[in-house]
Amino acid sequence: EFGTQSYVLAQAPLQIGAEETGVMVVGMGMPAQFSESTARLRQESVLYEELSQERKSLRHTYISILFLLTLLILFIATWFALFLSRQVTVPIQALAEATREVSRGNLLHRVRAKAADELGILVRSFNEMTGQLAAGRAELEQVNTQLDQRSRFTEAILESIPTGVISVSREGTVLGSNPAARRLFDRDPGSASHLAKLFSAEDMRELNHLMKRAARVGQASRQLELKLNGRARQLAVTVAALGEPPGSSRDGTDTSWFVVVLEDLSDLLRAQKEAAWGEVAQRIAHEIKNPLTPIALSAERINLWLKRPPQSRENSPEFSQVIQESCSLIDQEVENLRHLVDTFSQFAQFPKAHPAPADLNQIVKSAIGLFDGRLNGISIQTSLATDLPMVQVDANHFRRVFVNLIDNAAEAMEDSLVRHLMVSTRTDSQREIVEVMISDTGPGVTLEEREKLFLPYFSTKDRGTGLGLAIVSRIVTEHGGVIRVEENQPVGARFVIELPILAA
Ligand code: ADP
Repeated sequence: EFGTQSYVLAQAPLQIGAEETGVMVVGMGMPAQFSESTARLRQESVLYEELSQERKSLRHTYISILFLLTLLILFIATWFALFLSRQVTVPIQALAEATREVSRGNLLHRVRAKAADELGILVRSFNEMTGQLAAGRAELEQVNTQLDQRSRFTEAILESIPTGVISVSREGTVLGSNPAARRLFDRDPGSASHLAKLFSAEDMRELNHLMKRAARVGQASRQLELKLNGRARQLAVTVAALGEPPGSSRDGTDTSWFVVVLEDLSDLLRAQKEAAWGEVAQRIAHEIKNPLTPIALSAERINLWLKRPPQSRENSPEFSQVIQESCSLIDQEVENLRHLVDTFSQFAQFPKAHPAPADLNQIVKSAIGLFDGRLNGISIQTSLATDLPMVQVDANHFRRVFVNLIDNAAEAMEDSLVRHLMVSTRTDSQREIVEVMISDTGPGVTLEEREKLFLPYFSTKDRGTGLGLAIVSRIVTEHGGVIRVEENQPVGARFVIELPILAA
């Protein structure tokens, strides 16, 4: 710059060959506003520099603000996410905890966490479920207590009753027994493991028969004479078929079981026998005393006449009449005594029954045949069932039963206007029995008589022994049957005999 004028200078070295000889400087004068412009430019450039410096710090500031904003947003988002997730996780955690408590058996535990929407429904349902479970358990506990009490009650009864009770499986394996059964066998039946080891082969057949019958109809009973420990005992045996035993398998196999109840009737029967014999002795004494008085009186009468002088006797027609009367009276009373002794010995020496498969219709027919031409004025009608199943009876004994009943009916109808006898047989397959009915049109049997009819020595007849129906009843019960008397329609009595059907 020279003065106010500015120049642009340029220099270049001057060279001749390789030697520098001088420098050439060229200057060019610049326009007058150039320096102003330059100065302004410089100023602007300084300003620009300053602004550029400011721009950096401004950018830092904004970046920082943005960073802080981002952090804030992140924090809010995280907090919000946590808040939302807590809405779900807290109830789920509470549910998980409650599940653990329930699995430990604490059914009083409830989920207290608040939850909305579906989770709320889940929590409510869970609480309801545990509530119901708790109520169910309380009910179950109550039922269990009742069952426990009942089973202890049953156990106490079983322990104390004098009746032997043995529970057995379908195959005959002994499952349990009570003390009375142990006393009956003189050992624990449980140790025998199978019924066949407790009873003889013959008794076992009877038991098997009863068990089969019980399996079909639920319960079967019979009075049997069983040999226990070598001693014959009169037992009332009842077999009841039950469903599945406790703790048995449920795989579809037949696991029904039986309860065998053994009631020892030996002592009772002995006592009854003794009482009956006492009664018999009394009755016999009475029956013998009756004819003894007229015999003694007749003898005395004859004796008195014999004591008179022979002349007065020989000439008196009264003497031969007295002898005749007295002798016929003695004869008659002796005959009565013989009849009494005959009936008595028949009852006392009753032959042993030999039951065999038999057709009741045949026995009934042969019994009726015996009355051929002897039932004056009585019409007999029979209604015998076709296909009547066989029964296990002694045919001779049963013929006697029917003869006795027909005889009684005929006697009862002696004074009746209508004299009609009806004998019928029928099958009751549901109860597995056959029935024989003998109905008459006699005077019938009063309620009071019905109770005593089958007892020995009950008779409404002057010459009756009262043993006929007692023998009949004994034969029927000996064969596992039942006899009863009922009203016949429109008049008369009907005797009904029920006998078990012989199993195929
Ligand atoms: P008995 O014939 O020797 O009297 P039973 O034992 O045969 O002895 O009969 C007992 C009683 O039962 C009879 O006396 C009679 O009163 C009554 N009885 C028996 N069968 C009949 C009948 N079919 N109708 C009415 N009563 C009868």
